Amino acid sequence: MSQIAEGVYFIEGQDEFIPDSHTYVVGRPGSQDLSLIDPGLMGKGKYKMESIENMGIDPKDITRIIMTHTHLDHIGCCAEIREQIRWAELWVHDTEAGPLEEGDERTVYGMEMFQSMCMMQYNLKPGAFTFYVDRRLEGGENLDIGGMTWEVLHIPGHSPGSIGLYSRLEKVLIPGDVVYADYAIGRFDMHGANGPELGNSLLQLAKLDVNILLPGHNRIVKELPSGYIAETARRWAPYLT
Ligand SMILES: [Zn+2]
Ligand SMILES: [Zn+2]
Repeated sequence: MSQIAEGVYFIEGQDEFIPDSHTYVVGRPGSQDLSLIDPGLMGKGKYKMESIENMGIDPKDITRIIMTHTHLDHIGCCAEIREQIRWAELWVHDTEAGPLEEGDERTVYGMEMFQSMCMMQYNLKPGAFTFYVDRRLEGGENLDIGGMTWEVLHIPGHSPGSIGLYSRLEKVLIPGDVVYADYAIGRFDMHGANGPELGNSLLQLAKLDVNILLPGHNRIVKELPSGYIAETARRWAPYLT
């Protein structure tokens, strides 16, 4: 785990044969109002929480979990982590909050074949990813949390309720699986995904002034070249119609 900027911490995912999403913790030290973004894959809760404590962060200060989206590699260890921070609220975009509360796991697993494989491999029961959502997020909101302001951007396409979190002051973007380093983007062939929507979401992100890109997987980028997301959108446009 490392500190990326003031009030932004990074815990690298530990990929297995399924990827484990990166986890971020945001909020000013001393605010006692930290947010954990994207827990990660099943079985990674212990590693993620130990990494957080090793940074000198008191788990008591984590008051909420925010999901960039509810795919399995991001929400898999949500229950494990909540056992250690039972008071933490769960915030999810409105579009994915309903299915999560109803136990509709189509977005979590994304594909039927993947679902049966994962359920067998990890001994998961149907309904394992049913959660009460404390707050349903919407695009355009400004969250004043942990002494910082984070804008919620609804950026569907990879999944229907994908959000990005953006600190305009720090020029930090946490885009979930919508855009990665090296001109890569999230896949758009799973349940609720949509290529043209993903294209529009990339164009929405391209308008932001981003210096630090903190995606859900792979490399993080600390000095993002200007125009990087616009160029990514341009390269992918032919495939997103
Ligand atoms: Zn995803
Ligand atoms: Zn992911």
